Amino acid sequence: MLALQGDFEAHRRMLQGLGAEASEVRAPHQLEGLDGLVIPGGESTTISKGMARDGLDEAIVGFHASGRPILGSCAGMIVCDREHLGLGDYLCRRNAFGRQLASFEQDLQVEGLGPDPLRAVFIRAPWVERHGPGVEVLAEVERHPVAVRDGNLLAVAFHSELTDDSRLHALFMALASTPASSASRPGVRGEGADGLATLGEES
Ligand code: GLN
Repeated sequence: MLALQGDFEAHRRMLQGLGAEASEVRAPHQLEGLDGLVIPGGESTTISKGMARDGLDEAIVGFHASGRPILGSCAGMIVCDREHLGLGDYLCRRNAFGRQLASFEQDLQVEGLGPDPLRAVFIRAPWVERHGPGVEVLAEVERHPVAVRDGNLLAVAFHSELTDDSRLHALFMALASTPASSASRPGVRGEGADGLATLGEES
């Protein structure tokens, strides 16, 4: 888990509960040997600044390019978008649910997690405002994507690490044990000349 700021402890409990070894990443060399990375919720500006200060931004881009999976949750979803690390072909709207709905819980049908809904905790959550055609929308709230997959990146607007349902983390761990070649999504990025052409669609 990226451990610059935010609720990485809750992710540790989830991952360990599933039998994974979880370690804290605060410096680029700590990414070595990891099978996957969780970028937790917290405050996206603080996490972004911390990554830039410690050289973790470039290191995480390289980690992602090597085909290893990343799970970004809430602020972690934001920092993976096109305006930040650029790991996923989508743009987030921060604090998208507004003041009235700053925090809420909802049972969500999430593609890939089976028929039972996932209890999702939204805390000043973003949603995906726009995304390219290669981004798979796994769940929506009010027709706004709140869980997406782009190749080996899994990004969710909510916190499921605060519940006792570990299916999302299990899905992430399954990606970590899938060979990079089948986890990545060939042929979508790089098709547009300016690299942003795939963002034309309003979601
Ligand atoms: N609102 C926060 C942000 O924009 C994210 C909140 C969260 O991670 N729970 O960074």
